[in-house]
Amino acid sequence: MSAVIPIAKDSGCADLPVLRERGQREVFCGLTGIIWLHRKIQDAFFLVVGSRTCAHLIQSAAGVMIFAEPRFATAIIDERDLAGIADANEELDRVVRRLLERRPDIRMLFLVGSCPSEVIKLDLSRAAERLTREFLPQVRVLNYSGSGIETTFTQGEDACLAALAPQLPAAGANDPASLLVVGCLPDVVEDQFARLLGAMGLPRLAFFPPRSSQAMPVVGPNTRFLLAQPFLNDTARALELRGARRIAAPFPFGVEGTTAWLKAAADTFGISADAFGQATLAARERATKALQRHRERLQGKHIFFFPDSQLEIPLARFLSRELGMQLDEVGTPYLHREHLRQELDWLPPGTQLSEGQDVEKQLDRCRALAPDLVVCGLGLANPLEAEGIATKWAIELVFSPVHGYEQAADLAELFVRPLLRREKLTREAVCS
Ligand code: SF4
Repeated sequence: MSAVIPIAKDSGCADLPVLRERGQREVFCGLTGIIWLHRKIQDAFFLVVGSRTCAHLIQSAAGVMIFAEPRFATAIIDERDLAGIADANEELDRVVRRLLERRPDIRMLFLVGSCPSEVIKLDLSRAAERLTREFLPQVRVLNYSGSGIETTFTQGEDACLAALAPQLPAAGANDPASLLVVGCLPDVVEDQFARLLGAMGLPRLAFFPPRSSQAMPVVGPNTRFLLAQPFLNDTARALELRGARRIAAPFPFGVEGTTAWLKAAADTFGISADAFGQATLAARERATKALQRHRERLQGKHIFFFPDSQLEIPLARFLSRELGMQLDEVGTPYLHREHLRQELDWLPPGTQLSEGQDVEKQLDRCRALAPDLVVCGLGLANPLEAEGIATKWAIELVFSPVHGYEQAADLAELFVRPLLRREKLTREAVCS
């Protein structure tokens, strides 16, 4: 049963109708996060404890590594192993020992749980503790769940970072204030943000997760953190438990979002408006100019978001405010009101939000609205394309560098391309 519920006034986003649905969902599971996490933490290994289905997902989504040894694998647990949990634990320990003998470069090992019933019965947190005792100081073993039962695919990153947060070295109460940027960012984007924040005069800055498990940032009561991704609820809570405090900000998508995100950090650290303006002006102007040609293509076009990546609300804000798109419906798997407060305030009045999914009903709404572009998961994209609707795969928005000024035009282009492809297909169909 679905209901339209106005968001409470104290959320700062009154008047936006939210359709809450709890039906069948079409989303990837949290294992998908391994694809970008293993690229980021370059001495970590992700061992999925799962079924053959999990192995297929990881193998096909992450591809085969030709030039380097892979840093992910699946330990397949099948029905046979249900006979004895003790045997399954021993088998897991044997697999880990073999792996670490063969791969002395691994410094951090994540046991990643999955949803098959035979895996759920295994206590991976105890396995991680047991194996950490055996392999420290060379290797730390942690665990998190990438299960697809209750999650959407970006929650894999949240679960991974939330597992890592309690392991971060403690900063002292007298340590100077520092900024922690939280969320996996491509190295090139991280470097751009480091340059901008450094140019403003921000003295102490770290990124989480870091590129090496041996360079974990310190965290403590003088740590202020800025979320780079809107899906890091558990991670934020875990950092707050360590004493760190979140800086409220919109997310760094597009010129406006990036400026407000950087400004929130600058204000927190007492950086002057002049220093902020000087550090950001050139990049802001470049990005604004680069967006212009995409605005000509996207202005007035209607877009419909199915819930998938949890980036939907910040992206909808960017597309509507900076590129003039019309938002037909903005679906999100979960609506984190607190983290999205500024984003919601920036959506046009009356924007239809939906939280959760009842896929058949949502497809009916989408067809009735006939948007120019639909953002959705892979499973829905092909059927919608076959019906003549242009689609954008939500997962591509997480894999691509899309944060910050230098990527603002690339992000817009990701929405232009499917429209151009659809126009071309329509022209060819008319001509033939
Ligand atoms: S974790 Fe669950 S949803 Fe994900 S691939 Fe494995 S079986 Fe499928």
